[in-house]
Order: sequence, then structure tokens, then C-alpha cells
Amino acid sequence: MMDVNARAAAQSHSKVGKYLLFETLGQGAFGKVKLGIHEDTGKTYAVKMMQKSQIRAHEMTNQVRREIAVMKAMRHKNIVNLYEVLMSPKHIYMIMDLVEGGELYDELMRRGPFDENEARVYFKQLTEGMLYCHARGVFHRDLKFDNLLLDKDGVIKIGDFGLVSIKGAGSATELLHTQVGTPHYTAPEIITRASDGYDGVKVDVWSSGIILYGLVAGSLPFMDEDIQVLYNSIVNKGVECPPEFSPGLVDLLENMFRKDPSKRYSFSDVKRHVWYGESEGDSEGEPGKARPG
Ligand code: ATP
Repeated sequence: MMDVNARAAAQSHSKVGKYLLFETLGQGAFGKVKLGIHEDTGKTYAVKMMQKSQIRAHEMTNQVRREIAVMKAMRHKNIVNLYEVLMSPKHIYMIMDLVEGGELYDELMRRGPFDENEARVYFKQLTEGMLYCHARGVFHRDLKFDNLLLDKDGVIKIGDFGLVSIKGAGSATELLHTQVGTPHYTAPEIITRASDGYDGVKVDVWSSGIILYGLVAGSLPFMDEDIQVLYNSIVNKGVECPPEFSPGLVDLLENMFRKDPSKRYSFSDVKRHVWYGESEGDSEGEPGKARPG
């Protein structure tokens, strides 16, 4: 809790609904994220401001309304929870959990690649958040390191869940053609547009595999400055894991990187994989053996 009045008096601020807006915490492609304080409760939030002219939600279609309602109803320790969505003539404001531990990517850059046991801890948090949202029919579709924040205890909070439809990339084709999706994390079926629809679960599993690889290798599996070369690798080339990856991890990643989404693991499969269940001190386990259950 913060002394709101003292803070409001000391700093210039604007206001949206009951929230006083303070300093900018970060800048995204669609607008700023500001510190917000509820004027009655003194509770702090992150307020994501997006210009309506840049996003789809200025239309406030019934679909967008429904999706916002679903997101507001979701509460999970590994996602950035959304509390309110407010509108002004030019902006949309998303009132969200304030996450104060910085980005997982910065932690990775500061400490260098994680060992597999450390990576597993983060990966399990990511998987739990994804499973919770998928169970409610909400897919991320733009999962990347930038969307993984850490709270004060170093626990992952997945940001921007469900926002793809608000921001404007509601279909695979749109996702490919807007700057919303980040090419390095894009699943092959989105690039080839193999079908009109695509399985949101499997697209998120692919991107989570990219993140898991990145945590242990310290770099991403598909990298090229030329986007066509990058896309060609994603669609046609297998992922080569560094020799230091354990056989269990390699096997899990191979199953997360199946080009054919129908053969790719779901998050439930991921949870049953032997590498997922290992902890420090366990033997490396036999690759390919999903645990029963
Ligand atoms: P987008 O594609 O929507 O622009 P982005 O990841 O580029 O996404 P934002 O989500 O707008 O950018 O976030 C910009 C920055 O604001 C982040 O890098 C982070 O530093 C900060 N930030 C975002 N959300 C929160 C939050 N819930 N709590 C604290 N800081 C946040």
C-alpha cells in the first residue's frame, strides 16, 4: 500500500476511472504501461494504455467484449491477471497486476544460460499458466520472452494473455501479417497457412518450446535477420540441440517441435514427460518415456 494522497500531491498525474496514473513503467509497440494506484484502496496496478486507432478493440465488437469478460474472470498465479478494461475517446486502458521483478529475459542475460534444473522451475510455471488459460479456451498466440515477467519472488507471470484479439491479430493470416506475432517464436503451420484455422494449443506449445530451448541454450533455435530464411528454417529444418542438453530434454523438445501440429505434444503431454518430472538429483531418465498418469 502506498500513501496515495502524498504521492498524488508530489507528482503530476492523470486519472482514468478510479485509477491515478503515475510514471511510465515500460513502452510497448501499442503504447505505454504506467503505474496506477486505485484512489480508494491505494492498491497498485500496471495500466497498459493502447491507442484505439492502432488496435482492433476500438470497435468493441461482441466478440471482443466476450473475450475481455473471459480474461477478467481468470485468476492464476502464473499469469498477469486483468482486472478492468476502461475506455476514453482515444485510448483503451487495461488494469493489470503490477509485476515488479523485471523480465525473465533480463535475468537470463544477467546470469547466462540456466542449468536444466533452474530452467525446469521456470518452465513448469509457464506450463501451469498455459494449462489454466487453455482450459478456459484462451490461447496466447504471441508467447515470447518479452511477455514473461517475474514477480518479487522470482515467479513467472505470463503477460498479454488473450490480448492478440484485442490488439488485432485474430487469425493466423493476420498474426503473420501484423507486427504482433514475433517471427522467431512462430509455429510452422502459421507460416505455411496449411489450413484456415489452427490449433491455439499447439501454437502455444511450439512457442513454449522455443522459450525452454532459449532458457538452457541462452539463444533461440531459429535465428536469421532475413525473415524468409528464418521462416524457411522454421518450416523445413529440424532443431539441433546443443550437445550439453540431456537426452530427456532433447526428447521433450523434439516432441514440442513436431512440424505437424497433430503430432506435436499438448501441455498435458508435456507434463507427463519424464524430463518434466525430474528434479535435482534424479537420474537423467530415459528419453521418450512419458510417465503414466
Ligand atoms: P506489445 O506487443 O503489446 O507492445 P510489449 O511486450 O512490447 O507488448 P508491453 O506489454 O506494452 O510491451 O510492455 C512494455 C513494458 O512495460 C514491458 O517491457 C515491461 O517492462 C513493462 N510492463 C508491462 N506489463 C507490466 C506489468 N504488468 N507490470 C509491470 N511492468 C509491466
